[in-house]
Amino acid sequence: MFEVVIGLEVHAQLNTKTKIFCSCATSFGEEPNINVCPTCLALPGALPVLNEEAVKKAIFFGKAVNATINKKSVFNRKNYFYPDLPKAYQISQFDIPIVENGELFINVNGENKRIGITRAHLEEDAGKNIHESNFSKVDLNRAGTPLLEIVSEPELRSSDEAVAYLKKLHSIIRFLDISDANMQEGSFRCDANVSIRPKGDTKLYTRVEIKNLNSFRFIQKAIDYEVKRQSEAWEDGTYEKEVVQETRLFDTSSLTTRSMRGKEEAAEYRYFPDPDLLPVLLKDEFLELKIPELPDEKKKRYMQELGIKESDAEVLISSLEMSRFFENLIAQNLNAKLCVNWLNTELMGLLKGELTIENSPVDAQKLGNLIKRIEEGVISAKAGKEVLAYVFENTEISIDEAIDKLGLKQVSDDSAIEVVIEKILNENADKVTEYKSGKDKLFGFFVGQVMKEGKGAFNPAKVNEILKSKLG
Ligand code: ADP
Ligand code: MG
Ligand code: ZN
Repeated sequence: MFEVVIGLEVHAQLNTKTKIFCSCATSFGEEPNINVCPTCLALPGALPVLNEEAVKKAIFFGKAVNATINKKSVFNRKNYFYPDLPKAYQISQFDIPIVENGELFINVNGENKRIGITRAHLEEDAGKNIHESNFSKVDLNRAGTPLLEIVSEPELRSSDEAVAYLKKLHSIIRFLDISDANMQEGSFRCDANVSIRPKGDTKLYTRVEIKNLNSFRFIQKAIDYEVKRQSEAWEDGTYEKEVVQETRLFDTSSLTTRSMRGKEEAAEYRYFPDPDLLPVLLKDEFLELKIPELPDEKKKRYMQELGIKESDAEVLISSLEMSRFFENLIAQNLNAKLCVNWLNTELMGLLKGELTIENSPVDAQKLGNLIKRIEEGVISAKAGKEVLAYVFENTEISIDEAIDKLGLKQVSDDSAIEVVIEKILNENADKVTEYKSGKDKLFGFFVGQVMKEGKGAFNPAKVNEILKSKLG
């Protein structure tokens, strides 16, 4: 009887080398107040200069979500006081953002749905307040780091849809390589705006904003809690009192939200164009920039051009690192399906805990070498698994060294195989006669005997080939 209405604001920290309005480094985890200069410390007289890389990354995003990229956009001052904001205003974009009217498609319960992206604008991040027992400290390393704030239309109808949207957005941003989008480190943060309304109603009811959610699970839990709280208030007749426009915080231990402060209206920020920055006028060459291949396109290409099945293609595009690994594999002229199997099943099966595809002890070159040896018949697929497990633990050892060390090389040498084949055929002269008089099934028997005599070390393709010629 209620419909859930959700709109998301995502802050993605752009992975430029330097800050958005000065040349300080953006590196994470440094000693406090190391990456600072007169501009990001807000010393009098210092002037901001716009970082071109941040602009390009915003354009990349706009193109990826079919948005309008405004040839002219404007930086505004958003005025408020907070200790981690030394200028007492944040440079942001307001009425003319760089990106507007985009879209993104999500799939929930087999249904495809379009979600509008209202806008994406550039702004600077604030610093960090660190509260200790008797002190509060300020670290301004992050002050001035470029952010892209991406605002969705209030078109999401469940926490599942919200999570699907965020995952899609996250994936697009990673494949564009415009942000590390690391949720733990805070380079991809989400505010969720949540309201409910009677089914069939089209007007928007009072929303609350839940701030700084930093995992997909918490986002889901926070929305679910908030929907429950608002619906219960409606049913109890306390909606007017309980549901007010405000900013709420999510408590990750009790999985509930609580009021943090009343929500500011835009007017309270006294936005005005920053007189220190000219409007941004994009050169045509910027608008013509080509963006990297996106996950959906990659998936389609893997399926159509490489004949990979959908479920496998989905694993391959599950992260930028995964698809890079795969593309580095097939670039070694290997059979694509074989690569999928060795990557998705065998290598992924070994990667656990701290070990992921990003820091895999076996890189694409090495896994490629292994697949090559299997393709060449130097080792069997079964032996390949043993070799992989071995080099996974012993990273300094090459594939060929491991094959030698483990004694897994198949015998492909014709003469050695011939000797055994002669022996088997002699011992089974009666069966040879039967075979020659039409009992084709016996071929498998001969193969089995020869392989057994060879203790599994014979290359089966070779055995087949020589047996065929011997039996005529
Ligand atoms: P603010 O910065 O004041 O939060 P924004 O325009 O940046 O405003 O973001 C507002 C977000 O809230 C958008 O994602 C929008 O879709 C969403 N939103 C607006 N009204 C509602 C509502 N009634 N219920 C849920 N979401 C809403
Ligand atoms: Mg907001
Ligand atoms: Zn600086």
